[in-house]
Formats: sequence, structure tokens, C-alpha cells
Amino acid sequence: MNLTTETAKQWLLAAGRDMQENKGYLSELDQAIGDGDHGHNMARGFAEVEKKIASKTYDDVGGVVKDASMTIISKVGGAAGPLYGTAFLKASGVWKGKAEVSDEEFAEGLKAAIDGIAQRGKSEQGQKTMLDVWIPVLQEAEKGNIEAEQLAQTAKEAMEKTEGIEAKKGRAAYLGERSIGHLDPGAYSSYLLFEALVEAIEA
Ligand code: ADP
Ligand code: MG
Ligand code: MG
Repeated sequence: MNLTTETAKQWLLAAGRDMQENKGYLSELDQAIGDGDHGHNMARGFAEVEKKIASKTYDDVGGVVKDASMTIISKVGGAAGPLYGTAFLKASGVWKGKAEVSDEEFAEGLKAAIDGIAQRGKSEQGQKTMLDVWIPVLQEAEKGNIEAEQLAQTAKEAMEKTEGIEAKKGRAAYLGERSIGHLDPGAYSSYLLFEALVEAIEA
């Protein structure tokens, strides 16, 4: 995989387009097991990211990802904003000073992001959250020789699996067993994020 500073920027811009396009669907998913604002939260956050990064020049992957993290943290409320913001902030620390990120460093950044989400969300795999997508993607990345297409496939399958899980964290946890049978909105937006990575890398 070839994650350069420019690709990272294109990744975040593509993610913004995907969040915008899927805004209605993400909120629909959240309507079923939460408060119905996930699409709005993600589309708004990434629109602000676009404003911040689009016309700025960066020297390193860490710089662009850090700007995204600060924007998301300051502009997006709810659970997902701070969690995505923390994820990007932690990853940006690993990618700081690197104009290009190796496959190994990419996996290290993902690992840091996941630890950030888990710590901030007091969450772990199997609780029907975004982590149920991020962790399988990390496991795939840690195998080395990363194929972007394979990462997206892994993210998709992991996202689909959240339908069968009972929520233990976030608003959906209030529903208990009734959360089963619905996709997790944060898992879906995370799938979009990794799909955007493929878009950017293959462009
Ligand atoms: P809110 O629930 O505050 O309205 P959003 O609707 O934007 O926030 O985001 C909901 C998503 O956030 C969930 O679908 C889930 O993936 C994720 N989420 C919620 N709580 C946690 C947590 N503790 N750890 C990890 N992810 C979480
Ligand atoms: Mg919500
Ligand atoms: Mg909300």
C-alpha cells in the first residue's frame, strides 16, 4: 500500500464525500438503535475537515491526519465525534514526520487509533461498535503486504457482522437484545472510511 501525504489528504476528502452521500442511510441506521444523528454528525464533521485541509499544503501524513482529528474533536458532538477524533489524533502521532507511511507504520497507526477509541470509549471488540470494524482491519493490516482492496473487503464483512451482535456500549446498549438485527451505524461509517482509503490509494 502506498500511503503518502497526498494520498492521506485524498483519503480524508473521499471519506467526506462518502459520509455526505451516505448521510441519510447512516442516520437511518442510527434511528433504529440510537438517536438518528450519526449521518448528520459524520457529514458535518468531514465537511469541516474538508474546509480545513483542502487548500493547505502538508509535509507529512501525520500533519494532515492531525488537522482532521482536531477539527472532528472540536466540531462533532455525540459519541462518535470524540471517538473518531481520538482515533485520528493517536494515528497522527505515529505518522508524524513521515511523508510516506510503510505498511508496518500504517498498522502501528491503526493500533494506536484503536487503543485510543478503546480507552476513551471504555470499549472492546464484540460490543457492536466501530471497534468491530477497526480491529479486524488492523488484524488484516498486521499480516503485512497490505492490499487496499482486501482491507475494504475485511471492513465490509466486519460491518455486516455487527447486525448479529447485541450492543453493549453507546445508546444502542439501552435496547439490549432488541439491538440485534440492526447494523451498527458507527461500524458502517468506519467501513466507509476504509473504503475511502481504497478509493484514494487506487486513484
Ligand atoms: P451518539 O450516540 O452520541 O448520538 P453517534 O450517533 O454519532 O453518537 O455515534 C454512534 C456510534 O458511536 C455507534 O454506532 C458506535 O459505533 C459508536 N460508539 C458509541 N459508543 C461507543 C463506545 N463506547 N466505544 C466505541 N464506539 C462507540
Ligand atoms: Mg446518534
Ligand atoms: Mg447524538
